[in-house]
Amino acid sequence: MISQQGTHEGVGKGPVPRISEAPDMEGRFGEYGGVFVPETLIAPLRELDEFYEKLRHDDAFVDQLRELWASFAGRPTPLQFASRLTRLVQKGLGQKRGASIWLKREDLCHTGAHKINNALGQCLMAKKMGKKRVIAETGAGQHGVATATACAQLGLDCVVYMGAEDCRRQALNVTRMRMMGATVVPVEGGTRTLKDATNEAMRDWMGSSETTHYVLGSVVGPHPFPMIVRDFQSIIGIETKGQSLRHLGGIPDAIVACVGGGSNAAGIFYPFVDEKVKLFGVEAGGRSSEPGEHAAPLCLGSPGVLHGSLSYVLQSADGQTEAVHSCSAGLDYPGVGPEHAYWKDAGRVKYSAATDREAMEAMLELARSEGILCALETAHAVHAAMGIAADMDREQNLVICLSGRGDKDVDEASRLMREAGLFKD
Ligand SMILES: *Cc1c(COP(=O)(O)O)cnc(C)c1O
Repeated sequence: MISQQGTHEGVGKGPVPRISEAPDMEGRFGEYGGVFVPETLIAPLRELDEFYEKLRHDDAFVDQLRELWASFAGRPTPLQFASRLTRLVQKGLGQKRGASIWLKREDLCHTGAHKINNALGQCLMAKKMGKKRVIAETGAGQHGVATATACAQLGLDCVVYMGAEDCRRQALNVTRMRMMGATVVPVEGGTRTLKDATNEAMRDWMGSSETTHYVLGSVVGPHPFPMIVRDFQSIIGIETKGQSLRHLGGIPDAIVACVGGGSNAAGIFYPFVDEKVKLFGVEAGGRSSEPGEHAAPLCLGSPGVLHGSLSYVLQSADGQTEAVHSCSAGLDYPGVGPEHAYWKDAGRVKYSAATDREAMEAMLELARSEGILCALETAHAVHAAMGIAADMDREQNLVICLSGRGDKDVDEASRLMREAGLFKD
């Protein structure tokens, strides 16, 4: 999909791998990543790794995927100058401060977010592998909808595992999936949420991998999933680079993205990791930094194994995964992709957290200044970006990955905003 091969001459022990060269043959991003799964999943993961290695260099596959992205998903998405948001940030800063803010409009993708990029990539890959059935897990239902959509477009059978509690809370997405012919399986075990749905999807795949591809929704899980999802989402960064060269006359000075599992962030960051651009990831700060009140593993967690790979995890002293909270369902996850852990430790990306309240304020500020209702997930990035842009010079440029649109959040967000005194209607 994208190749950035080559080595730096480092000091000392010879060539130092470029940061873009991860993962290694074992699927490690530095010490993170890897394959921590039951024996029965080793063979299907190896098959997937080998198949993908061939596919990424297959021009016919890449052409077909680019055509789907263009004609079905609506790519390329625009890189838009946010003039009124920029002016809002510059207000009161004097003549020299306050960068120009640009929006990479993933909210304009079919189904309303970046998730369709990965779903189409993996479903087309499943077809090439000769698999007629696709399974997926979903929390709020956004990845389930993207996968059901891709399966309908490509003529694949689709089964989506979703916690029974999530099915109740996200009834609209359940209906959307069913209307597109997918089977939605409500999972009754445990807390009846995403973690339980993921376990159920894994169990299905252990018995069905001959005929079935498992479409993971973010840059998480065992190798090769974090690499595959990153590569498919990298179209965001590849487009951003070309558009920056045309519109800004060079690459941007800073890029900001929200981080749940980390796929929209990895997608826009990856084509820039070897370049001189400051990269900022924004996690869910929730209500506070107390355990159970946020979903910020990179800021407040520690290394541990979750869902098949080693990365930062929110866990108690004895290694139990902790409860998480965020106002945005898409960021409400106790783990994060291993490549982000690697970028954090290498100092390549700076990670911070925005609280529920800060995200809601930013959602309103973007809506009122630009006429764009973004997803609550995305609003975390908007909040951080406004602060970062204020600290930059006037001639510099900052890009926000506008990961998704906010229609799905209008009921919940307006209720929370009324409670917080931010919104009256
Ligand atoms: C799912 C989702 C996210 C979080 O997922 P990542 O893998 O971190 O990108 C962010 N924004 C939107 C709009 C989403 O739907």
